[in-house]
Amino acid sequence: MTQPQNRRAFLAGFTAASVILAFSPSARAWLSEPEAAADAVPLPPLDGQLLFAPDDLGAAADDFGHILHHTPFAVLLPGSIADIRRIVRFAHAHRIPIGGMSMIGNTHSVYGQSQVEAGIVINMASLAAIHEIDEDCALVDAGVRWVDLLAATTPLGKSPPALTDHIDLSIGGTLSVGGIGGQAFRHGMLVDNVLELEVVTAQGRLVACSPTRHPALFHAALGGIGQFGIITRARVRLVDVPGMVRRYTALYSALVDMMADQEMLMDDGRFDYVEGFALPAEGGGWMYQIEAAKYYAPGQPPDDAALTGDLGFAPSTLTAEDLTHFDFANRIAPLVAFLKSIGAWELPHPWIDTFVPGSQAASFIQSVLDQTTADDMGGGPILIYPFKRAAVTAPFVALPDEPTVYLFSLLRTAPPPAVPDLLAKNRAIYETLRDLGGKRYVASGVPFTSADWQDHFGAAWPAFVHLKHRFDPRRVLTPGPAIFD
Ligand SMILES: Cc1cc2nc3c(=O)[nH]c(=O)nc-3n(C[C@H](O)[C@H](O)[C@H](O)COP(=O)(O)OP(=O)(O)OC[C@H]3O[C@@H](n4cnc5c(N)ncnc54)[C@H](O)[C@@H]3O)c2cc1C
Repeated sequence: MTQPQNRRAFLAGFTAASVILAFSPSARAWLSEPEAAADAVPLPPLDGQLLFAPDDLGAAADDFGHILHHTPFAVLLPGSIADIRRIVRFAHAHRIPIGGMSMIGNTHSVYGQSQVEAGIVINMASLAAIHEIDEDCALVDAGVRWVDLLAATTPLGKSPPALTDHIDLSIGGTLSVGGIGGQAFRHGMLVDNVLELEVVTAQGRLVACSPTRHPALFHAALGGIGQFGIITRARVRLVDVPGMVRRYTALYSALVDMMADQEMLMDDGRFDYVEGFALPAEGGGWMYQIEAAKYYAPGQPPDDAALTGDLGFAPSTLTAEDLTHFDFANRIAPLVAFLKSIGAWELPHPWIDTFVPGSQAASFIQSVLDQTTADDMGGGPILIYPFKRAAVTAPFVALPDEPTVYLFSLLRTAPPPAVPDLLAKNRAIYETLRDLGGKRYVASGVPFTSADWQDHFGAAWPAFVHLKHRFDPRRVLTPGPAIFD
């Protein structure tokens, strides 16, 4: 949502570094000197801070994608949940013409999902306390990262049942999009493992919700792309995990052979984690790598032959590695550190993540790979793995209507000049997939119109609109995905 006229009014009369103290409803202007307007309304007192410095605004106008840049008017570093309510209420009460409000979890969005032109971005990282860890759940602030929660639960022999591949992501941000990883075939997505939420609605109400208490808001907020409220706390499930993990990889020359084995493993449940990748083959084209993991107690390693003996990979390519559960869950961290050290983290990431109907997966994935070169990927991985549709229950996580669904992701790294072409490719891939009954993952970078969003939510669209009207009637929350433009 871009409001250039309002933006000019905000910025009139002060530099971005000025300290804003008040708002004038008649002039529709922010003031660094409250006496400048007779009707100046002072900003509410805050436990935290409202930031206006160019560096803070610039950081909030960027994300991991480094493709879109929408500069907010201010960034709220809340010192308390009350601060979020104060600012939301202030904006609401004075009909402040902000571009909207958005939340930054850890800014791993790739296509402006957490940005808001001329609005207020709430940086949830300043609310990151782990409040309780119980036998089967933990109560955490939305700004907590999964890696921090896991570090706290590991000494107790516990873990969230499902985790993303990269766990340096915020709990609020991942719960707003879904959160998928190699345990999805058994445990669903991260959103399927939440017991309660606390959510601040666009009217500034703090609502504790669960499947039985204010269920409409609970189900809407999970996978709701920040449209219905600001998730401030979550009570997430924990399960007991043995301390060790044996991680296997092996290569296949044919995609269909890897997929057949992945589906067998998903059905018989012999592993705790199943994923797969397409890797550049020597001489061009692709080969396929399965990745499966078995959890085990120290001193009781799994039987390799029993786990892998009947699989169809090339036997000489099998590898097995033993890791602690924490190091397995955090296995991407060394790669991330390396990518940061060579500057690749700062390059654009025109990612596309898709959910492919199982019946179409082999032919669709193969046809996309046939048209994808290693150069298109810039060294980024291609993910391919199945999960069961029935394991995902969040109503606004749009998925194909088939029992088996594949995650298929092209996680590209690209030099800036290549971005328009790769976004066009993402769009073409999406359109083919859509016509086959597939869906995009909302965390990815696919140019989307409001009509696309309606199509994306399909039969759930009327409920989406109804709940938006109920919890955010002025449509100020999270304009980045442009669902209601
Ligand atoms: C290296 C990398 C690896 C990844 N691996 C995976 C993976 O394995 N599986 C997977 O599912 N995803 C993965 N992702 C995608 C990731 O889950 C999403 O980008 C997710 O949104 C990231 O969370 P974040 O904390 O960075 O959220 P942000 O990008 O900051 O926010 C995401 C969206 O949620 C909104 N939001 C943020 N916090 C809140 C809140 N508290 N309340 C309401 N709305 C909020 C934002 O406004 C925005 O619209 C990966 C991303 C990267 C960059």
